Amino acid sequence: MRIVSGGVQHETNTFSKIPTTLADFVRDSNCGETLAGGETIFERFRGTGSIHGGYISGAEAAGFELVPLLCAKAQPSGLVEKTAFDTMLGWFVERLKEEQPFDGVLLDLHGAMVAEHHEDAEAAFVAAVRDVVGAKMPIVVTLDLHANISARLAELADVIIGFDTYPHVDMQDRGHEAAELIARIVKGEITPVQEFRQLPLITLPPRQCTLRDPMQTLMARVHQMEQEAGVLTATVAMGFPFADIPDTGASIMVTTDGDAELARAKADELAGWLWDLRDELQPELTTIEDAMTYANDHPDDGLVIFADGSDNPGGGAPCDGTIALHALIDAGFKGGVVGVIYDPETAAQAHRAGVGATIPVRLGGKTDNLHGAPVERDAYVRALCDGKYIYRGPMMHGVQDNLGPTATLIVGGVEVVVSSQRRQCFDAEMLRIAGVDPVARRLLVLKSAVHFRADFGPLAGRIFDADTPGIHRPDLAAFDFQRLRRPIYPLDDLAQWMG
Ligand SMILES: [Zn+2]
Repeated sequence: MRIVSGGVQHETNTFSKIPTTLADFVRDSNCGETLAGGETIFERFRGTGSIHGGYISGAEAAGFELVPLLCAKAQPSGLVEKTAFDTMLGWFVERLKEEQPFDGVLLDLHGAMVAEHHEDAEAAFVAAVRDVVGAKMPIVVTLDLHANISARLAELADVIIGFDTYPHVDMQDRGHEAAELIARIVKGEITPVQEFRQLPLITLPPRQCTLRDPMQTLMARVHQMEQEAGVLTATVAMGFPFADIPDTGASIMVTTDGDAELARAKADELAGWLWDLRDELQPELTTIEDAMTYANDHPDDGLVIFADGSDNPGGGAPCDGTIALHALIDAGFKGGVVGVIYDPETAAQAHRAGVGATIPVRLGGKTDNLHGAPVERDAYVRALCDGKYIYRGPMMHGVQDNLGPTATLIVGGVEVVVSSQRRQCFDAEMLRIAGVDPVARRLLVLKSAVHFRADFGPLAGRIFDADTPGIHRPDLAAFDFQRLRRPIYPLDDLAQWMG
């Protein structure tokens, strides 16, 4: 048995003005200029906490030959340029044709990609693959928990398997599950019947977290459902809210073995469970002033984390916001750290000056005027590094990544880790390489909404979801939706959902 695999992953924030280019995918995928498949992908992902890591282990367990063709990924940002999307899809389709014959296709997609010419970019991707392989070839798609899934995408894929966790610590498990499932389909052991439900519901990152209730309990129920006779897999996609397209928001899927009636019944049941949680999914936000007061009043509570999700690059925000940094400096707060601020210009300036130098900086606030003004002050260069690291925490464990030349500065009494690449700080290793031990600090401002909880959560005495402005602010009132389907809760008053 031969199964091909691949995909293009992007979470597109349509409120971002920064277009996503082919060069962004080439830089962030780390698979060479033409995004090589084959051995490059085996070397990069084998044994790692990634979807392809799971495809590789699943292929070994099921005893089939895996042929990886492409694994493209770019940091979340604005619309994917037409040329970028068409070029990568073109490469994938060309490689698919070269590798024929094969028995099935595993697609590693995100589910919230929006291209300039395709509002539903994943459906366009899978449709192009269908054109090559035909209607009968099994296609199993893995998607992020933040996928905004359309009915068309659900129709095009035989099975969709979504992540069950946020922070996304089960990527390898879901890739492995997809690989074992497609092998059973090809062998004729199972006949998947997938039922999809889109809910009139849009939710925000802080409460989508599966380490907290209500999602923790919901996912435990989903796992019980997956153990029921006849059920093959079930998915809850909470959606990526910062995309103004009709399909943004929550959806669910249940796949059974050949039983359409059971699939419909279980899909209704699961959709009902999620719908019943709609009020509990609304976040509570805290200002930086209140977080500082808490840290000062509770010195024995350990590290306080201020999760500045509004400026989360993992959802397309600039990662150079300065609202919290300005407040820490103005308050003369002792023991504050901000990680990571993306500012290649300041990082380069610090690298030229060297450790021990004092330099006049204009730090952060450069991408737009929505996330705070630059901090203009003298800064002391405390440490420098090349920015290369391996994820050591539970998420993306073992994957190599790069912050680019990085500087640790002391600015107005606050320690700031300044990177040359835009990366969400969700692994403590990203601070340790910069000489910062978070446990030894009082208040840590992280440019992350939820993912940081996997690795930093156990180190924190208290975590606050930030009340800051930005294009990833967990507050629907801050956005002007034009294309979103209506009515939708909580933007519209929906007393009940008729399904
Ligand atoms: Zn996600």
